[in-house]
Amino acid sequence: MRVRLYRRQGEEFAGSGRLILQVDGDFLDLSSQLLADGQADSPAELACQGFFDPARLSDWLNRVDLAPTAAIGEAEALLPPLMPRDVGKVLCLGKNFAAHAAEFSEEVPAEPMFFNKAPECMVGNNVTVSPPGDYSGRLDHEAELAVVIGPKAHRVTLDKAMQHVCGYAIANDLSLRSLQGRDRKQGYPWFRSKNFDGACPIGPCFLPSGQLDPGQLDLRAEVNGELRQSANTRDMVISIPEAISYLSGHMTLNTGDIILMGTPAGVGPLANGDEVVCSIEQMGRLRTRIRRNGP
Ligand code: MG
Repeated sequence: MRVRLYRRQGEEFAGSGRLILQVDGDFLDLSSQLLADGQADSPAELACQGFFDPARLSDWLNRVDLAPTAAIGEAEALLPPLMPRDVGKVLCLGKNFAAHAAEFSEEVPAEPMFFNKAPECMVGNNVTVSPPGDYSGRLDHEAELAVVIGPKAHRVTLDKAMQHVCGYAIANDLSLRSLQGRDRKQGYPWFRSKNFDGACPIGPCFLPSGQLDPGQLDLRAEVNGELRQSANTRDMVISIPEAISYLSGHMTLNTGDIILMGTPAGVGPLANGDEVVCSIEQMGRLRTRIRRNGP
């Protein structure tokens, strides 16, 4: 059973769009039923309730009558599958692919290196993103696997870490590289180079866990159809269980929190009018258009 959740733009749930449930080839309007049932429309909350358990989902679909809806197309502009209000924090791994660290003439850090993006930076598929108006430096794409936390994780051991994952998405950790370089030189945090409106395209869908092995996925970024990044998640230095175990020992991870697992080599600049597509096998393609002043 192939299950995906998309969030179509619309007015349902006070501006948070309509959740579209894809089950194999069928696209179904989930929002109307959730509203009727008085249920929250948070994919992570639904996952924690066991909603995506295949037997339970099949049984539920046989009992309710979800209206079929138009298929989600690759070019459809979508909302993020997880809305900012349902995400407490977005934690991002730095330099988690050795070849990416090497392209900045750096070593993989001895300890995991994390920074954060504000959930408000998230946008969905096929959205136009612009860097801050006065910024004329380098703006880079970074294709990454996004891991969504299900049950709360506090000081979790390695062997139990995956029990706290409820799903996955594709993310693009858009970065104001020139500004980041300036801030690093001065010993400042990375915050402003990693946080601006639209700095975290995520989607196109939420993929509930249990349907794939996240440690064996091809990950790519293309710009205007030209391949820029290509790697496999098996090349990550810190694995998903290691990241969850480490982070949850530092700070509690709550339902809906997101971990971006770092980007492979091949990051590069984006110019006005560029279209960047980040893709992960079985998860689809996350498209972002760039509009900017200058180069
Ligand atoms: Mg990154």
